[in-house]
Amino acid sequence: MMRQRTISKSISTKGIGLHSGKTVALSFQPLPPDHGIIFERSDLPGTPRIPAQATLVRDTMMSSNLVKDEVRIGTVEHLLSAVAGLGIDNLLIQVSAAEVPIMDGSALPFVNLLLEAGLVEQSELKKFLQIVEPVKVTAEDKWAQLTPFTGFELNFEIDFSHPAFNKDYQHATLAFSSENFISQLSRARTFGFLKDIEQLRRHNLALGGSMDNAIVLDDKKIINAEGLRFSDEFVRHKILDAIGDLYLIGYPLLAKFSAYKSGHALNNQLIKQVLSSPDSFEIVTFDDNVKCPVDYFKINNKVSI
Ligand SMILES: [Zn+2]
Repeated sequence: MMRQRTISKSISTKGIGLHSGKTVALSFQPLPPDHGIIFERSDLPGTPRIPAQATLVRDTMMSSNLVKDEVRIGTVEHLLSAVAGLGIDNLLIQVSAAEVPIMDGSALPFVNLLLEAGLVEQSELKKFLQIVEPVKVTAEDKWAQLTPFTGFELNFEIDFSHPAFNKDYQHATLAFSSENFISQLSRARTFGFLKDIEQLRRHNLALGGSMDNAIVLDDKKIINAEGLRFSDEFVRHKILDAIGDLYLIGYPLLAKFSAYKSGHALNNQLIKQVLSSPDSFEIVTFDDNVKCPVDYFKINNKVSI
């Protein structure tokens, strides 16, 4: 049986908030089956909770941010990508600020922390959202779509005319499995342009942003001394973002995702479009693991990268 999973024990870490520049505490706690992924603001009275749901996404300028009853949790996508990548269905994420810490700008620190806590199977069957009719959203020349597919595959194309963006490295495809996610995607970092970062700083944003948590580019080149982790790290990161954004649909997807220049806003529009089109999807379970077209991280099987 393909069952739901959570973590086996609680675990905590600290990091820097990208926008505030302040230290943020982050803890993960197991949750019972069918609870989903829930954020909790541990710094606020009554520790309000914000479920990871598509309809709670508010501004998507720089990152995906959730708001419920005026309580906000920002920059959720890299963490949600790690949670989706490991196939975790139920998790409480406690954060001591209005934003998830940025860590190194990738999903790898979250993957490592969740694996350190350990994964456990739960009693209930894992539910998937299977796309049965194509859904597409467009905005200017950008688009994103989900089409029926046996498994979960992601195709992404970006189009930056900048000397550091080699034409050969602006398209990537990932056949999703936990193993492929960890080895091919989880280390891909976010990126930003120096002129945008300077602009954000004038508005008291990106105060925690640095070359420790992003690939930073000036008008001509990458200014991080260590360079790139993959030749196509930029587009890999866009797929990493999409996996996190799409997980806000509330289930792992069985579909082919294709996108051209998409971002957080369009990814969110896409999943809201699916949820408002009941004929476009079915919720399915697998009572035999062999029939499940997606391979998840094997429990009690450690991967080190
Ligand atoms: Zn990102």
